[in-house]
Formats: sequence, structure tokens, C-alpha cells
Amino acid sequence: MTNIYGQTIEDLEKYFESIGEKKYKAIQVYEWLYLKRVSSFDEFSNLKKDVIAQMKKDFTFNKLEIKKREIDNLTEKYLFKLEDNEFIEAVVMYHDYGISVCVSSEVGCNMGCAFCESGRLKKVRNLEAYEIVLQILAIEEVIGKRISSVVIMGIGEPLDNYDNIIKFIKIINHPKGIGIGARHITLSTCGLIPKIKELSKLDIQINLAISLHAPNDDLRNMLMPVNKVYSITPLINTLKEYIALTNRRVTIEYVMLSMVNDTQECAISLAHLLKGMNVYVNLIPYNETSHLEFKKSSKNRVLKFYDVLKKEGINVTIRKEFGSKISAACGQLRSKEV
Ligand code: SAH
Repeated sequence: MTNIYGQTIEDLEKYFESIGEKKYKAIQVYEWLYLKRVSSFDEFSNLKKDVIAQMKKDFTFNKLEIKKREIDNLTEKYLFKLEDNEFIEAVVMYHDYGISVCVSSEVGCNMGCAFCESGRLKKVRNLEAYEIVLQILAIEEVIGKRISSVVIMGIGEPLDNYDNIIKFIKIINHPKGIGIGARHITLSTCGLIPKIKELSKLDIQINLAISLHAPNDDLRNMLMPVNKVYSITPLINTLKEYIALTNRRVTIEYVMLSMVNDTQECAISLAHLLKGMNVYVNLIPYNETSHLEFKKSSKNRVLKFYDVLKKEGINVTIRKEFGSKISAACGQLRSKEV
């Protein structure tokens, strides 16, 4: 049995054909799930009784259990309990342009970034597509409002769970699904090169963000073990190919760690590395975690770093800070009930 919320339209079309029904029923099911938001198969009133009976045998309809909801001004953090008693978190942020949700992609994470809290628990398993879709549905139900954008930046490395993430994106992007436009979906990765190449061949106009965090291999090896496998030069070359193929601008994320990667030399090397590429750099204020060796860069150091990049002609912004009081900020989410 598989959960109905993990089905793409194509999956459902194939399913209906396989049970001798017309393909268009797939759209009807999507309307029940995502437009009318019903919570049982019995409410699918335009489907025949025997079709509903068959669907009950083939699919589950379970939702996620919200264990905890914490609110801090414009941010809300949700702790979800999964069917196998694992935990994940998602975060809602209220902006003046709409509401965004940061979803988790895995239980735990194997990437081992030295400064990140989420990697404290090694990956237990991938999230299934439905478990990611349901993070959004559960939140929309609680807040009674529609989400306008989704960032895949919670716990986990999305490209390490590629197939489920692509399924999730197709489901929420479908106009009869949750209907979130591809340009309002951002996937953040620590740089798994083969998967970035695969992504570039898909015809999906999502935003790609790369967690770079260092302009040279020595420093990046120390901060992000993944760099020992996918180092900076091949990563940058892959991004150049990605940009050429998709015609999309890529975001470079750079977390500001005091006296580690926030020096003027780092800023200059970063500018040289990115010169001429269709990218913009998002400087992320560090949210302090139990990795006590890392401290947040002062405002002044962030501004100086920003100025160097600007002067070198690099597009750069400083990320607005959200939710650090309730440990809902980047890198503070955990697969743990606390
Ligand atoms: N695995 C993915 C997505 C999850 S992390 C990735 O690596 O991109 C989302 C972003 O938050 C990444 O850029 C990550 O490096 C950053 N991050 C991690 N810990 C952080 C912290 N404590 N403060 C600020 N940003 C952090």
C-alpha cells in the first residue's frame, strides 16, 4: 500500500488505466485531494463505489501528526511525527510578498557539515514524496492560508533523495495539485554533482541554490566533507553547464562564520571564483548551534564582505533572519523530539 499523497498525476493516470478506468479520473482525484481537501476516499462522490473500494485497497490516506507548533513573531516551527515514530521539522515564514515553507527531505542527514545541527543525527531514511507533500498540507490546514513558495532547505540533503524530491516537486507544482509555481520552489544542495547534472536535464524551472560556504578546497573540506568527493572546480564547472542548459540564475549560499570564512581574502577569492557567472550570492547570518567552535559574524564583518563582492561586480544579498529564537532557523532543525 502506498499513500495517495505521493502520487503524481501520471502515476494516477497509469493506476486508473490499470484498473480499467479512464485516465481523467486522476484529475478528479487531485481535485478532491488538493482543491476540496477532503480527508477520506468516501468523499470522492464522482467516483463509482467499486472504484472507491479498490482505491481503499491500494492506497492509504494517512496524514502527518503535528507533535508541536512553536510561534515566534513571523516564524512558526512544526515538529511532525512520522508513521514509524521518526521526527522531522518544517518552518513557515510570513513575508510581505507571501508565505513560504521550508520543508525537510530526509530523517537526519549524512552530509556532516561541521556547523549544522541537522547533521547531528545521521540519515535514518529518505522521506517519501507524500511525507514532504503532507508537511505543506498540514501547515496550510493549521494556518488556514495558502503557501506561496516552498524552499527545500530543512533537514536532509534533497539530492541524496532525488527521486522522491522530483516526485514531490511534480505534485506540488501541478496546477490541479497544490499549484505552487516552479519559480516559487527552491532546492538547496551541498553540491552533489551527478544529481545537479541530472536536474539540469529535467524541464522544471525551479530555483537551484548551492551551499558553497568557502571559496577554496582547503576551507571547504574542513566545513563540508562532501567537498572531498565533489570539490570546488568541478562543482563550479557543473554550475556553468547547468546555467547554460537551463538559462536559470543560480543562488550561491554562503554562511558567515566569524574569522573562518568571512575574511576580506575569502571575499576576494569568492568574487574571482564567481566572476562572469549568472549567479547571486546570498550571505547567510550564522545561527549558532551546539557546534560551539563556530560563531556568528558581526554585522560589520558581513557588511564588509558584502561590499567587496559588490565592488567586484557580484550580485549579492544578505539573508533576512527568521526564527532563531525557536531554533527554527537554517541549520537548527533536528530530527528529534526535544
Ligand atoms: N542539505 C541542503 C539543504 C539543507 S541546509 C544544503 O546543504 O543546502 C540549508 C542551508 O542552511 C544550507 O545552505 C546550509 O549550509 C545552511 N546552514 C546550515 N546550518 C546553518 C546554521 N547553523 N546557520 C545558518 N545556515 C546554516
